[in-house]
Amino acid sequence: MKHKCQWCGSEEDTVYSYWTMTPIVPELEEQINKLGRDTWFEKLETETTDELEKLAFYDQLLNTFGNGYVCKKCYTEDELNYIKYYE
Ligand SMILES: [Zn+2]
Repeated sequence: MKHKCQWCGSEEDTVYSYWTMTPIVPELEEQINKLGRDTWFEKLETETTDELEKLAFYDQLLNTFGNGYVCKKCYTEDELNYIKYYE
């Protein structure tokens, strides 16, 4: 049986494991870097902008895990992005 990658929808080379709800999105990570990686979420206490709300939602998905299928292409890319943004 073919399984869909929960990140991109591809059915090639999927692996069943424990994944975050969203892959790392470089575009959003760059926005976080611009706002200040260690302080951007503090802004949420005093400001509500579309950008902050979007990043807060993304951050929440990135910290929520569930079992499912992700394809090899996605998780390889995600690993590289993890090294780039979180190590
Ligand atoms: Zn995929």
